[in-house]
Amino acid sequence: MRVDNCESRESTRELLGEVQERAARFLESLPERRVAAARAADDLAQALGGALPRLGRPASEILAQLDEIGSQGTVASAGPRYFGFVTGGALPASLAANWLAAVWDQNAFSEVSSPIGAAVESVTSQWVLDLLDLPATSGAAFVTGATMANFAALAAARRSVLLAHGVDVDRAGLNGAPQITLVAGEQAHATLFKAFGMLGLGREQVILVPADGQGRMRADALPNISGPAIVCTQAGNVNTGAFDPVGAICDAVKQEDVWVHVDGAFGLWARASREFGAPAAGIERADSWATDAHKWLNVPYDSGLAIVRDADALRCAMSLQAAYLPERVGREPFDYTPESSRRARGLEIWAAIASLGRDGVAELVERCCRHAQSFAEGLRGAGCQVLNDVVLNQVLVSFGDDRTTSEVIRRVQRDGTCWCGGTLWGGRTAMRISVSSWATTSDDVERSLEAILSVVRGVNRECG
Ligand SMILES: *Cc1c(COP(=O)(O)O)cnc(C)c1O
Repeated sequence: MRVDNCESRESTRELLGEVQERAARFLESLPERRVAAARAADDLAQALGGALPRLGRPASEILAQLDEIGSQGTVASAGPRYFGFVTGGALPASLAANWLAAVWDQNAFSEVSSPIGAAVESVTSQWVLDLLDLPATSGAAFVTGATMANFAALAAARRSVLLAHGVDVDRAGLNGAPQITLVAGEQAHATLFKAFGMLGLGREQVILVPADGQGRMRADALPNISGPAIVCTQAGNVNTGAFDPVGAICDAVKQEDVWVHVDGAFGLWARASREFGAPAAGIERADSWATDAHKWLNVPYDSGLAIVRDADALRCAMSLQAAYLPERVGREPFDYTPESSRRARGLEIWAAIASLGRDGVAELVERCCRHAQSFAEGLRGAGCQVLNDVVLNQVLVSFGDDRTTSEVIRRVQRDGTCWCGGTLWGGRTAMRISVSSWATTSDDVERSLEAILSVVRGVNRECG
C-alpha cells in the first residue's frame, strides 16, 4: 500500500485535534460523573472484541469507538473524589508532558536514542534527591513503579551485602553464595515479597518483625542480625500512613554487610513537607529508597524511582554491555534500570516538579493530609469509628461490625459520588480513604462525607 505522506500528515493533525476534543470533554466530565466505572470488563471485552479483523479501519473511527465504549469502563481516578489505593491523578503539566513524550516517541534507554530522555533523567534525579533530602550522589533509576523500584534497589542491596562476603552475585549468581538474612516489618507491602521472589531470594524466607498498633515495625523487636542481611523498612503504611522508625532501625542494624532499604511508595514524598515530614526523619540514613511518582507526585502511570546511596552498586547490578552501545560519557539511563528500551517517563516527573516547585510539592502533600483530617473529624463527629491515628493522608474507618462496614463500602462505591476501597485492619473490616490527588478540594471532601454518611444512615435504618 502506498502511503501519501502529505495526506497522512493532514489526517494526523485532524486526528490529534479529535483526541484533544475528546480528552477535554472527558476531563471536564470528571467532577460530576460517577467515580465507579459504568461498564464491567467482560462487557467491554465483548464490545471491543470478536474475531481478529482481517482489514484495518481508519484511525478516527477507532478513536471514536475507543472513546465512546472505552471511557465507560474507566474509573474516574483522575477526578477529585477518588480515594482508592493511595494513587493520585495527573497534574496538568505532567499530563501535557506525557502527550508530548508519546508524540516524540523517544526511547529513553540511552543518550544516543534520546538526548532529551537522558537529560531530564539527570536533572530530575537531582531535583528529587534535593526535594526528598536524600544523599546527592545517590544513583536513581526511572522505573514503572514501586514494585520495580523495590526490585532494582534490592538487586543493588543483594550485590553489596554479598560483595562484602567476597561474592560478585551479578557474575557468579546465588549458587554457592552465603545465605542473605532478609528482615521486614510484619506490615511490609506485598510487592516487597514479590521483589524478593524475583531476585531469587524467596518470598517466604523473610523474618517478620512485629509491628505496633499503627503498623510501624518495632525497632525494639528486631532480632539480632548478622550479615549478609537486608532490612526492609517502610515509609507510609498503605492502611494507616504510619512510618517505621527508620533512623532507630539504622542505629540498631547498619553495618558494612547489613543494608537498610526503605519502601516509601507514597510516604517518601512527605519529606517535602515540614509539617508532615517529621515521622520521616532519619530516613536519609538508609542505603536505598523506593518510591512512586504516579502516586503522590501525581504523574501519569507508570512511574517510580529507585534511589541507591551507592550508585555503583545499582549500576553494577543493572548495567549491560554490547558492541553497539556507545562509550559512556555522561549518565547512561540503561545503566540504572532493569529495562532497556522504555518510554521517557522522566519528562513527566520533570514537568510535575517544574510546575509545582519545592513549595508546591509541600503544599500538595499538606493539602491532602488536611483533607484526611477533615474526613476523620467528619466521620468521628457522626459517630463512626476512625481506627488509625491520622498522621498523613490515610483514614481507616469502621461503621460497626464487619458486615455493616462491607455493606457501606459496597454502597459508597455504587453511589458513585466518591470511591473508597476496603481493607482489613487489626482483624476488622475497614473502609480506607486515601487522599492523594492534586484535584481534591475541601468541597469534594464535604460532598464525599455527605454521601458516605447518607449511605451509613441508610444501612443503619435497614439493618440496625
Ligand atoms: C503502592 C505501593 C507499592 C507498589 O507500588 P506499585 O507502583 O503498584 O508498583 C509498594 N509499596 C508500598 C508501600 C505501596 O504503597
